[in-house]
Amino acid sequence: MVLRTSYNLRLPPFSGRTSRVLATLIKSRRLPQALLFAGIDGIGKSVTADLFARAVNCNNSPAPQPDATTIENWGCGKCQTCRTIASGNHPDILTVEPQKDQIRIDTIRSLIAYLGFTPYSARHRFVLIRSAEKMTPAAGNALLKILEEPPSQTHFLLTAAKVPDLLPTVQSRCQIIRFQPWPDNVIVSHLIEQYALDKPTAETTVKLAAGSQIKATDLAQRNWVTNQSWAIEALENIEQSPVRLQLVLAERLAHKKNDLETLLNWHKTVILDKIKTHSATILTSEASNQSRLTAKQLIYRYEIVEDSLLFLSTNVNKRMVLEKMLMSLAVNSAL
Ligand SMILES: [Zn+2]
Repeated sequence: MVLRTSYNLRLPPFSGRTSRVLATLIKSRRLPQALLFAGIDGIGKSVTADLFARAVNCNNSPAPQPDATTIENWGCGKCQTCRTIASGNHPDILTVEPQKDQIRIDTIRSLIAYLGFTPYSARHRFVLIRSAEKMTPAAGNALLKILEEPPSQTHFLLTAAKVPDLLPTVQSRCQIIRFQPWPDNVIVSHLIEQYALDKPTAETTVKLAAGSQIKATDLAQRNWVTNQSWAIEALENIEQSPVRLQLVLAERLAHKKNDLETLLNWHKTVILDKIKTHSATILTSEASNQSRLTAKQLIYRYEIVEDSLLFLSTNVNKRMVLEKMLMSLAVNSAL
């Protein structure tokens, strides 16, 4: 059985209108049996689900203000219940998440068996199902039965980035709450204010986060763009490095784990910007061109990085893919 409650509670950087709808629900104490938080990954759906469960169960619950633009006051954060939920050890706040990109029927069956017991101490027991669209059809159908006749005091909070992938029968059992990504310029201002980034760095950070507020905040907290600019520079000038240094770079990049994809996507945006500048220069017939590469070389370069990203998403030897990528980039640039 995969039931996990360990989760590092932290406030989502933004919340907005969605938080007001949820605050009203908490205040009214009339909770739907099942809520579905819909929206792209990384905009705080799971964190909000945890905080929602906390707010509803808090012993000193100051009712959240319906006009709140943040969800900081959801639950006092100090009482026994709040602290247990935050530690991830509350037996009545259950989390189910995909294993190997799937939520299987065995997991849902174990969950249903667990829900056969009465709740330990919470006024409202919650089951958080993250990325619910990853349920197999069999798992979805098993869940449907319990959604139709939920045990007392039990509520389901599902999150999904791709709602259409969820069984329609499951969707229809849930009240859908949509999470909207904040506009880029709002996130940029937030990063400048909170993390003292300069504007270009904040803009690059937001571009790399691709709409995910949580990712943007994570990158900003680590001052990631500034710290990784050496790698972008090394990639841009790869043809000037001897093969020995290309191999060293491949090894360093291979150790980047989750950041590698972000880094290569960054390199892709740099190439794209150059292609755009290139086209604009031709259109305006300006003699100077910011890139020393031809448009054809830039496009080929983009394809090399794109192909490498595809390979890296499969189970391959990362270093070998990166070595091949760097050598291809170097050869292409030298043509
Ligand atoms: Zn509390």
